[in-house]
Amino acid sequence: EILESGLNLDNSYNNLPKLLFSKVNLNTVPSPKIVVFNDSLAKSLGLNIDDFKSEEGVSLLAGNKRIKEGVFIAQAYAGHQFGNFAILGDGRALLIGEQITPLGERFDIQLKGSGKTPYSRGGDGKAALGPMLREYIISEGMHGLGIPTTRSLAVIKSGEYVFRQSREEGAILTRIASSHIRFGTFEYVSHMGSYQELKELANYCLKRHFPYVEDNNDKYLNLLNEVIKVQASLVAKWQAVGFIHGVMNTDNMTISGETIDYGPCAFMDNYNPNTVFSSIDIQGRYAYKNQPIMAEWNLCRFAETLLPLLDQDKERAINIAQDAISNFSDLYYFNWISKMRFKLGIFNEEAQDKAIIEDLLSIIEKYSEDYTNTFISLTFDNYKDREIFNSKEFSNWYKVWQERLKRQPESKKTVAKLMKGSNPAVIPRNYRVEDAIEAANRGDYDVMKKLLDVVSRPYEHSKDQEEYSKLPKVSNHNYRTFCG
Ligand code: AMP
Ligand code: MG
Ligand code: MG
Repeated sequence: EILESGLNLDNSYNNLPKLLFSKVNLNTVPSPKIVVFNDSLAKSLGLNIDDFKSEEGVSLLAGNKRIKEGVFIAQAYAGHQFGNFAILGDGRALLIGEQITPLGERFDIQLKGSGKTPYSRGGDGKAALGPMLREYIISEGMHGLGIPTTRSLAVIKSGEYVFRQSREEGAILTRIASSHIRFGTFEYVSHMGSYQELKELANYCLKRHFPYVEDNNDKYLNLLNEVIKVQASLVAKWQAVGFIHGVMNTDNMTISGETIDYGPCAFMDNYNPNTVFSSIDIQGRYAYKNQPIMAEWNLCRFAETLLPLLDQDKERAINIAQDAISNFSDLYYFNWISKMRFKLGIFNEEAQDKAIIEDLLSIIEKYSEDYTNTFISLTFDNYKDREIFNSKEFSNWYKVWQERLKRQPESKKTVAKLMKGSNPAVIPRNYRVEDAIEAANRGDYDVMKKLLDVVSRPYEHSKDQEEYSKLPKVSNHNYRTFCG
């Protein structure tokens, strides 16, 4: 019985205004099989691992089986895609429900790639194995790095083919999220709904994501402020590890502050602020260096949807929203510089820290060095074989940095510990992810499993991870990722 599987589902989203979702009919797939299953995530959700790996569990994860009649939904949303407004919605995903964990937390369980929905437009509602494995590996890597993210419980092969650039195996990813509510969900209600419906969505988000916000006249402003805070923190974490999201459209920005949508994303290897990986981002709108600016732009679109709740007078509402948004850049900067100080082993604050960080980054850029590995060299005082470390610029910078470290009371050992905990030994490097996917397409899942194991504990700095810090034989420079 599915009830023994540890599923403890609520469907609170289904009580929201009807325009926010559509019920979805199940689309059965011919022969679902597990490709990868996340035991530790299942455990933390309170799910019984064996039950989920059984035939009945797999048919649930494939969307072949319903738990309760009529509760599976696709969510409606809109979004600004590369600057242009569009009505969207879950075109290839369905929400099974909200798992209440043994600790009382609430997480969406969503099947991605599960077939057509009322929002599919021209699409087939399906997903290919490669992109779903990519999402699984990178999202779990992000989690390992300590970055808020949706997570991946499983990838199931459907047993049918989907047609993309070529014929590929079909797959379904089980995505776990503290919710799937996006900036675009608010844009949708703002565009299509009433004042009352907007208010209901805002109240729902306050209760679900920011329950500590006091229920008073300022609560919608505080909702905006909380979303600004979580996004400022999130994007600072992306920058610090060199993560490029690739498609920061407002439909891919969550209210919760979790990273969502691992389409054309990738980690930067050689440091270049102009790096873009997405094959569709010709203008470089979502380049590494633009991510904080684009987050602020997205927050403006979110804030616009809240105007009716901020004040009855439109001019006053706009001023309130603008004041709130104007805090973003300072908040972002504070988060960023804290992270970067830690990467350099700096505990206290000095005005010149910004210059020390920026000088290092420009040296890394000049020598086109690997971002992650340069910080690992600094962490372990290991400067072998690299042109950058023999340069005049670096030795000058190094002296300034060492002097800086002396102006704090912490011992060398304490500094080293901070740096180890702030500089990952491994990131899911693109060529490794590609190798894992290529092997999986041949039916060999071991390459992926080993990769998942090392990227899930990036701050361990153990011997078996060294192999994974190696750079690709051919540079990543022209690496391009495509949307799933
Ligand atoms: P994304 O680019 O992944 O953020 O997706 C943008 C929109 O396209 C969302 O509404 C998706 O649900 C929809 N979409 C993406 N792929 C498909 C597909 N294969 N079938 C139907 N809708 C899709
Ligand atoms: Mg998306
Ligand atoms: Mg996507």
